[in-house]
Amino acid sequence: MTSLEMWALFGFVLLAVAVYVLVVTAWLFARCRGRGMAGKPEGDEHSEAPEPPRGRTDASGLWVTEDVREADPGGRTHPIYKKLASLSSEVNSMSRGQLKQRLRDLGLEPRGTDTIISKRLTTYLRRQAILQEPDPPWELQNSVQTNPYGLQYLLVLDFEATCEPVNPVDYVHEIIEFPVLLFNLKTLTVEDRFHSYCRPFLNPNLTDFCKNLTGIRQDQVDSAPYFTEVFRNFTKWLDARDLGNKLRFSLVTDCPWDIKECLFPQCVLSQVEFPQYATKWIDARKLFGSFYRTKSGNLSSMLEKIGLKFEGREHCGLHDSLNIARVTERLIRDGCLLKYNRFMPQDLLASFDKS
Ligand code: AMP
Ligand code: MG
Repeated sequence: MTSLEMWALFGFVLLAVAVYVLVVTAWLFARCRGRGMAGKPEGDEHSEAPEPPRGRTDASGLWVTEDVREADPGGRTHPIYKKLASLSSEVNSMSRGQLKQRLRDLGLEPRGTDTIISKRLTTYLRRQAILQEPDPPWELQNSVQTNPYGLQYLLVLDFEATCEPVNPVDYVHEIIEFPVLLFNLKTLTVEDRFHSYCRPFLNPNLTDFCKNLTGIRQDQVDSAPYFTEVFRNFTKWLDARDLGNKLRFSLVTDCPWDIKECLFPQCVLSQVEFPQYATKWIDARKLFGSFYRTKSGNLSSMLEKIGLKFEGREHCGLHDSLNIARVTERLIRDGCLLKYNRFMPQDLLASFDKS
């Protein structure tokens, strides 16, 4: 082999080695890029997580993807939205006399303030229009559902408690009257009641102010059981009616006071476990304000706004409860959505657990 041929062979081998090194380096580089230097598994090649499907949670808590919404003719382009808008403007342009006449023609309650009767008519007409639509958008189908938790009963209550003319900030109200009405959501009537007076422990003697306010006499509380026993009787009353077991219910109050400022401190004082069913409930006053979009005021004022008068004696727990039930019935008949709108603060519940 000549020296020229030897140089040619050496050059060829060098070239082959260089190509080999290049190919291997490129292969290793490609592998490292794909898996990451720390050696992540193959399946984790995409450093960015795939986009979640677009959509939103529907009224029942289910995630509904955009595809479903697109398949559903539910976009705001559906012709029913125009129909609903024109129904609303038609009602808004009616005089009070026209509103009342239309309600009478439809067999609906004509009493109430302008705001209330116009809300009643709009809600009714909207509902009818949606129900008559062969294929309404899913969100409108949901909007005609007024009882999303499938409740069978409401337990309407209004406690009376010990009080002073001006209650000191740290004053502990003790329950002296414990009335609860069983309101059937099918018949919209009060079907049954639990009623008991309750003997106070910290302030056994009622103030004259308290007696005048509530109409409760000293002898009525003196002969009544203490809260622990009243509450035990109430629990038995619930159990005997399968309430909370087979039958679903929600408490209903007028403002949050009865649960937050009255039942809860009473349970702490009497060392009675705070019931789970009282951790969320329906505040009829709050519901009234949000549904009719009007200032609710107190119980008498709500009744006045729906064209009714307070029946019985104000600040008598039983009569207050009956009147709250009348307001609630009106809200339901007018198509109001029955949703929990009051919740016990978690930190307060936790503080009781620890004590
Ligand atoms: P009510 O449901 O409005 O009858 O009130 C429930 C409880 O709140 C009463 O039993 C009293 O303990 C207290 N209360 C109501 N109004 C007053 C008031 N004007 N002054 C002092 N305490 C009151
Ligand atoms: Mg009361």
